[in-house]
Amino acid sequence: MVEINPWSSKIYEDYEELLVNFGIERFDESMWKDLPNPHRLLRRGVVFGHRDFGRIKRAISERKPWVILTGLMPSGKMHLGHKMVIDQVKYYQDLGADIFIAVADMEAYATRNISFEESRKLAVEEYISNYIALGIDPEKCQVYFQSKREEVKNLAYVFGKKINWSQLVATYGFTSSTNMAHAYAPLIQAGDILHVQLEKFGGVRPTLVPVGVDQDPHLRLCRDIARAFRFFNVDRARDGRIGVFLKTEQDVKKLLDVAENVVKGYGLRDIERIDDYRAIYLNDAKDEDIELLNEEMAKAEVENGGYGFIQPSSTYHRLMMGLDGGKMSSSRPESAIFLSDDEGTVRRKVLSAKTGGKVSLEEQRKYGGEPEKCMVYELFLYHLIENDEELLDIYNRCRGGELKCGDCKKLAVELLNQLLRDIREKRGDEKEIEKIISD
Ligand code: SF4
Repeated sequence: MVEINPWSSKIYEDYEELLVNFGIERFDESMWKDLPNPHRLLRRGVVFGHRDFGRIKRAISERKPWVILTGLMPSGKMHLGHKMVIDQVKYYQDLGADIFIAVADMEAYATRNISFEESRKLAVEEYISNYIALGIDPEKCQVYFQSKREEVKNLAYVFGKKINWSQLVATYGFTSSTNMAHAYAPLIQAGDILHVQLEKFGGVRPTLVPVGVDQDPHLRLCRDIARAFRFFNVDRARDGRIGVFLKTEQDVKKLLDVAENVVKGYGLRDIERIDDYRAIYLNDAKDEDIELLNEEMAKAEVENGGYGFIQPSSTYHRLMMGLDGGKMSSSRPESAIFLSDDEGTVRRKVLSAKTGGKVSLEEQRKYGGEPEKCMVYELFLYHLIENDEELLDIYNRCRGGELKCGDCKKLAVELLNQLLRDIREKRGDEKEIEKIISD
């Protein structure tokens, strides 16, 4: 069975197996086709899986508030793999999402031994200035440092009450030698994701976390935590009936009164309340009411002293391969194109990239290339060619043996250098960076 570990260096090739083993839903055409100007990463299957993305789609189409939380690990230079996330964030910002970006300086300290000062310097110089260049609107975005945001740290502590060591071992493979700061990191991440639903940061609302598939363990843990801190569960019971079920044994009457009011306000009439079961059965509710009622109930929980967290939604994108066919990583400079690479470096790296071409030109003409295994094609697909027909043309000409790898590489160098020139010119200055940072 494929394992997912956010701190390992494994490459996840069998995405299908991940969908099956971890209950991630397929992000197919039905998920993106109704979105305004679907982003290339969505329509090309780079984003391949999701949990509860339907909730986000509904918020977009009904123009209701929703929020994105993403994070950056300040452990090296920003490369094209990091850019993928920001491309998605920018797209969603244009669709109306509130944007929060966590600088994971506590996690960097715990897992990579990077000091807080170093984290801040790297985040500002390598990442935040590039985010502005990539189009993130600083006026509608908050970048914060985990170590400075009290609400995140406080929530992490509170969440610890519902998580035990066995769960962390099962989820992350922690051992007796795992240091406690590292063990605390998943709780801090849950604090990042869920604090955006606190009143101070915009209140309870659908929350999307777009991540690489390696981050799914954090999402699963965070969704469990969100659920564990709810007063009510709106669901279909084992006997098939839909109901609102109170999870706490305190203030049962008062809280069931609250729930009853919400249910009636929602428009359901055929209800059966059984205080002894701490349940209200909703005989005229349908499946589509479950999610909506759950959100109404969440708001009522906040009014009555609870957190009312809505479980975060997530999307999962494929991890970009390195130019050499291994994992793209800041620690292996030849595997990645960094946004700060100069033109000569880009040329050198692309010219030595692994392709799906055959060993000789003759064989290439005869049998065609394999764009699916080609790192240059991946650059086109993820970053460099926006027009789908143009991309398809390259694919077909490669497969048909008409295209030479040398010509492809030349085009990739040209387009990449153009892209990086543009980013260099638009990089945020100190004033803009200050505007976007919010402690
Ligand atoms: S022809 Fe282009 S797309 Fe095909 S394998 Fe060569 S570099 Fe890759």
